Parts: sequence; C-alpha cells; structure tokens
Amino acid sequence: STQEQPPQICVVGSGPAGFYTAQHLLKHHAQARVDIYEKQLVPFGLVRFGVAPDHPEVKNVTHTFTQTALSDRCAFHGHVVVGRDVTVPELRQAYHAVVLSYGAEDHRALGIPGEELPGVFSARAFVGWYNGLPENRELAPDLSCDTAVILGQGNVALDVARILLTPPEQLEKTDITEASLGILRQSRVKTVWIVGRRGPLQVAFTIKELREMVQLPGTRPLLDPADFLGLQDRLKEMSRPRKRLTELLLRTATEKPEREEAARRAEASRAWGLRFLRSPQQVLPSPDGQRVAGIRLAVTRLEGVGETAWAVPTGDTEDLPCGLVLSSVGYKSRPIDPSVPFDPKLGIIPNTEGRVVDVPGLYCSGWVKRGPTGVIATTMTDSFLTSQALLQDLKAGLLPAGPRPGHAAIEAVLSSRGVRPISFSDWEKLDATEVSRGQRTGKPREKLLDPQEMLRLLGR
Ligand code: FAD
Repeated sequence: STQEQPPQICVVGSGPAGFYTAQHLLKHHAQARVDIYEKQLVPFGLVRFGVAPDHPEVKNVTHTFTQTALSDRCAFHGHVVVGRDVTVPELRQAYHAVVLSYGAEDHRALGIPGEELPGVFSARAFVGWYNGLPENRELAPDLSCDTAVILGQGNVALDVARILLTPPEQLEKTDITEASLGILRQSRVKTVWIVGRRGPLQVAFTIKELREMVQLPGTRPLLDPADFLGLQDRLKEMSRPRKRLTELLLRTATEKPEREEAARRAEASRAWGLRFLRSPQQVLPSPDGQRVAGIRLAVTRLEGVGETAWAVPTGDTEDLPCGLVLSSVGYKSRPIDPSVPFDPKLGIIPNTEGRVVDVPGLYCSGWVKRGPTGVIATTMTDSFLTSQALLQDLKAGLLPAGPRPGHAAIEAVLSSRGVRPISFSDWEKLDATEVSRGQRTGKPREKLLDPQEMLRLLGR
C-alpha cells in the first residue's frame, strides 16, 4: 500500500493555496513528498502580483512559504505551465495525488459596448502592472485625465483607488515597480469614483481598507449624505463587521468633521467618492472614437433586503465623464485541461470538500476551489481542509497503491519538450538581485519584470 512508501504528491500553483496545502501535507504526513509546479518564474502568486505594494505586512506570509519550500521533502518547479508543458493526466500518472491550486487568472468582462476602447482596463491588469506581473509590464496606462472611474466596490477596487490617489512620494519606499511609479508621478488624476450596482449596505470592501481611504493624505471623500438616509436605524440588525463598516461610512458621509480634519479636507487636491445604485451600460467614446470619454450608468433600485439584495434597472441613465475606466468586478478561473471537470458558470472546479468530483486522486484548493473571494487567511483554512481530505483518502487506501516516480518522470517529460524549470534556489538568486537593486533606492526590492532578463541572470 502507499503507506509503506512515501506518497508522491503534486501541487499545481504556488500562491497561498498551493503553499498552505503543501505545508499541511508535510506537517501531517512524516514521509509525504510534495512537488509544487508554477507557471511563473517566481513563486507566491497573488502575494507578489496582487497584494498592494503599500501593504508589506500582508506579504510576510512568504517567510512561512519559504520555510515550506526549503523542506527536504518539498520542491518548487517554476516556469512550468500545467496544461501546456505537462498535462494533468501526465501528472496523475506520475503522482499518487494531484492538488490543483492554480487560482483565478482571468477577469470577469463587463460585457458592454465600448469595453475595448483605449483607456479601459481590468483592475486585474492594472494591479498586475504596478506589481510587476510580466504580462502586464507594458500596460502604461494614460493618467493624463482628470477623472477615473472604478467599477466595483470590493477591496481590489479600493486598492486601485488608493494607488491612484496616494502621493507618489509615499509609494517610493514600497516594492511598487519603478516604471509604474514614474507614470503615477506624472498622473493628473484628481477624482476617482468607485461605482457599485447596489447600495451602501452591499459594499464588499472591509473596514481596514475603507479607513485607509478616509485617512488618505491629500484626499477628501465625496459621499452624498442622501445615499445613507435611514441606515442609522438599521444598524442594530447588522452583523458586527457590517455594522462597524456602515458606521464608518455614515460618520464620513454625514458628520461635520472636527476643525483639523475639516482643514485637511479643504486643502486636499484629490478626491474619491462612492457612487451607488449605478450599473455600467456603455463606455462612451471621445468624439474621434479613439478613447474613453465617459461611462453611461443605468440607475438601479434594490429588490430584496440586506447583503443579498439585487439591483434592477429603473430605466434612467446617467453619464459620468472620465478618461480612465477600471473594471473591478471580479477575477475568474480558467479551465486548465480538458480532462479536469470545470463549472464555467461558477468558474470553479466542481468538488466536494476539495475532492474533484468524479476524479479520484485529484483535489483542489484556494480560489479555483471556492471562487475568487476571500483573503489569504480564508485560503489557508480552505487549503488545510483539502489537505485533510487527501490525507484521509490516503489512509483509507483510496489512492493508487504501489510506487510512483514523482518528479523524476515529469522531469523527463519536460526535458523532452525543452522545458527547464526554475528551482527554489534559482528563485533565491533572483530574490537577492531584487533586494539588492531595491536597496539602492531604499525599497524592499525592485522587482525583475522581464523573464528573459531573469533567465540571463540565472545563466540560461
Ligand atoms: P493565487 O494567489 O492566484 O495563486 C495561484 C498560482 O497558480 C499563481 O502563482 C499562478 O501563477 C499559478 N498558476 C496559474 N495557472 C497555472 C498553470 N496552468 N500551471 C502552473 N501554475 C499556474 N488577501 C489578503 O489577505 N490581504 C490582501 O491585502 C489582499 N490583497 C489582494 C489584492 C488583490 C488585487 C487580489 C486579487 C487579491 C488580494 N488578496 C488579499 C486575496 C489573496 O490574494 C487570495 O486569497 C489568494 O492569493 C488566493 O490564493 P490562490 O493560491 O488560490 O491563488
């Protein structure tokens, strides 16, 4: 049985889901060996390419992930695209079990006319740009306009608004890329509208991110007290997090600020505001049709109550002039391989507690299992549960018996296709280069953006 020899386990994706799954497997099975395959040259997924540069404390999880990668029963293989360089059936053949933790790499399209106009970007691409994701490094958004509109009211929308409005000198000591900082320094964006289909009780951002906006130096909030009428009386029905969030919104929108704060707001040169009950209908082109000049919003009203209320168009519309539209209406997973079931509607791999439906020995964790919501801590809990399910199945004899070759077999497959993976010690060299380049300008790191340059640095 598999108990007599080390179970060989493969994890696809090296974001929080992949690393927390690996960590739990190694901790709770004394012989298990885990190989992590990652399509990027570098590890850590959205911790590197999603989390905002001014939230360095969130990135401390990479220390724990590094400990896991350095275990002698774990190996990282970067620059391997599963589904292209190696198939899932090939991995299943080589390992006792395969865990898919490849996240949510697409963005949800708006599906409205004008979406393709220059000046319209997905928040995903914009975030990838300032965080040094190689595929977005050429984005160079034109920030010469006065007003930007962000569609969506979640934490990613607030991250993007904050990066657009933060005084650039405050970003200089973060790991934001030098190229994006250069463009942000030239930015003429003065006003950012954050637009939601529903009302203030349905916003998806959390209090920490809202508080950062309220306190953002050099900016003032633009909130219409009329949007918040009647909310005071409903506070007692709300869950505690929703209540605290709504209280902060109410205070900011309706209370007269004390003198110091009033002076601060009066001096502010930039502003951000929340627009509610507005659903994007069309991106409006400039007269020459060459770029975005505004957005037409359908006015909505709510049906149902509380967090699950939904928006219905009233038939009225409103045009909001702007030179930049960033759609932040969600990430989406892709199908990875025809052999793996995929639910295109929910954008996840159908599973029960992390066991992929109808495919024994195949598991999933993280955003590809649950959908693209939840913070790193949620992803951790979820990944531990998947690992537990796998270890239970192993114990119950439900995984293939007999030895499996693990990475040795995959290495041969990859090599026959001319694919040379990046090891964790390769990453440590790139990491050291980034850190030393950052030191010159007082940044935690200056990220390498060009895969060719990274390979050159590794002597390839
Ligand atoms: P990911 O982190 O996306 O990891 C998936 C990995 O799989 C990636 O490395 C990807 O390259 C790899 N991969 C994809 N396809 C393949 C393939 N075919 N072959 C091999 N590898 C592949 N959470 C917080 O707690 N705090 C925050 O401040 C915070 N900020 C965020 C900001 C943004 C903009 C976003 C989008 C999310 C943020 N989150 C934050 C949420 C957090 O990032 C997620 O909960 C977490 O990253 C999900 O983990 P994951 O491993 O499922 O996905």
